[in-house]
Amino acid sequence: MSTDEDRERLAGHLAALPVRELVDVLRRVLPHFEQEAYGMRTALTLANVTWYEDDVDPGLDVELVAWPDRDHYGGELGPDQGLWENGRCPRCDVEVTSNAKRAHCPYCGTACALT
Ligand SMILES: [Zn+2]
Repeated sequence: MSTDEDRERLAGHLAALPVRELVDVLRRVLPHFEQEAYGMRTALTLANVTWYEDDVDPGLDVELVAWPDRDHYGGELGPDQGLWENGRCPRCDVEVTSNAKRAHCPYCGTACALT
């Protein structure tokens, strides 16, 4: 059990990280909250959400934040550029985003090629 002060201190540490480092920390944490019940697997993931004030197609765009392919980037986290790469998971057919062009879907782990 943690105190509110413990969680506030942890939140302060996380908020000070560049986004690619925050994503790397969450990659290690969120899978611990996965659940399976009634033949369904539920995973806690990070999402990037954008509201578009578009006249043609307004609405909320939700992209799952994909984990950078560390093997592809020599054990590193890929470019430090924010979540500017986008694409779809070829298995889940869900929109994903990442700081890296080579990343893994946070739900199924499939490699995704982002642009
Ligand atoms: Zn997937």
